[in-house]
Amino acid sequence: MSTPPKRPRSNLVAIPGNTDSQKNIPRFYGADALQKSIDRMLTEAASRMALGKTLEASRSFNKAAQFAEQLLEVLEDPEERRSMALRVNEYRSRAHALARGRLDLKRSRPYEEHETDDQVYTDEESDALEQQILMLIDDRPRHMDWAAIGGMEELKTELKFHYGLAMAQLPPGIEIEGWQNIMFYGPPGTGKTLLACAIANKLNATFFNVKASQVVSKWVGESARLISTLYRLARKFTREGRPSIVFIDEFDALCKSRNSDGQLHHQQMLASILSEIDGFASKGERNMVMTIGATNRPWDLDTAVLSRFERRVLIDLPDRDAREAIFRIHLDAKGIAVDEDSITYEELADMTADLSGREIARFCKEVTAAMLHEMNPRIPTLVDEGLQAIKDYTIGLRPLTRSDFEPFADVTVPDTTPADALRYARWGRAVNDSEAM
Ligand code: ADP
Repeated sequence: MSTPPKRPRSNLVAIPGNTDSQKNIPRFYGADALQKSIDRMLTEAASRMALGKTLEASRSFNKAAQFAEQLLEVLEDPEERRSMALRVNEYRSRAHALARGRLDLKRSRPYEEHETDDQVYTDEESDALEQQILMLIDDRPRHMDWAAIGGMEELKTELKFHYGLAMAQLPPGIEIEGWQNIMFYGPPGTGKTLLACAIANKLNATFFNVKASQVVSKWVGESARLISTLYRLARKFTREGRPSIVFIDEFDALCKSRNSDGQLHHQQMLASILSEIDGFASKGERNMVMTIGATNRPWDLDTAVLSRFERRVLIDLPDRDAREAIFRIHLDAKGIAVDEDSITYEELADMTADLSGREIARFCKEVTAAMLHEMNPRIPTLVDEGLQAIKDYTIGLRPLTRSDFEPFADVTVPDTTPADALRYARWGRAVNDSEAM
């Protein structure tokens, strides 16, 4: 019996004979796989740092740098290459600093031990915060195009215009302000994050994805410092003409007044975001760091926030045409056919009034899953027969018909009620009217 081949150490597929002998790191094909490996190494580094395991953390950074170098080799886009080269350097310098014992890493203080933000930080501590920020960089925008967002055609054009103006050359002596920051508001699951990703993709921007509620709870006592580090790094990544987008989701979480101890930290974080988004561009230059806020609860935003986000855009529940487009994106564009003699996309749109994009996506997933169950009853038996049996099997599909959709349409209840939807529109009108006065 021949010896079975050794499994690669990671769950990625190593290409035999294609190893970097010097560093003994397997080479992998696929930018996605490499990106996942980098993320894994950074997470590993963070947890090792939290445990004070400095040398191990240094090794994780080194591995992250090596994977980033490999990714650099497969990237073709010059802007992406420059950004990745910057990340290679960042990871390497952290690895070196840790190996030399320069970083004292007791950063992730538990909640009970928090101190206020006015404490003095050393350069080394700032370095460690930067490491946390690097983990917020999200590469999802690379795969997000306008075409993957159903509906909102006018809004897409408006956003292109908005960001086009923010990026284009200013004629000498001309100053145009107020195009850096935008706030998306509206019901959950309507495409706010998708739009932010598409903008970042088209501008070739580095995308910092910050979920406000998570950041404040994780970084109690240091959140203001974290924000200034975030923007410092965002500015650093704008070298060579490439913008940075800081996407702050659940922005309302920073504005809600709380009776708990957390309130002070929310306010500190908010104050530091507001001062950062005012920008640091020198006269005559564009500020290349743009902030996109998003919220499902715009009525919780206070006037200080609203004054910084002069552009607020309602991302509403999809209308009929948009719902049709969203169905096409989540079925047709993924190769799942609909038998249009049985049910048309227009009828699907009619069937799903008041659903958000996310709910339509979920609806498509459930209908597809039921069809796959029906068409592939042998899969569990094949799995019992072993890996080869299942690998030889090709998944069976058939076009979806009316009777596939109807049972799910009856049980899908929209998260957003018509009354909620009205509240967003009313809020927008009220805010604009009060400002016009
Ligand atoms: P939110 O408005 O809460 O930020 P997201 O942008 O995260 O919502 O959307 C959640 C998911 O819902 C997306 O990943 C996508 O699958 C689906 N979705 C929402 N809106 C649309 C849309 N307009 N077109 C296509 N898919 C959408």
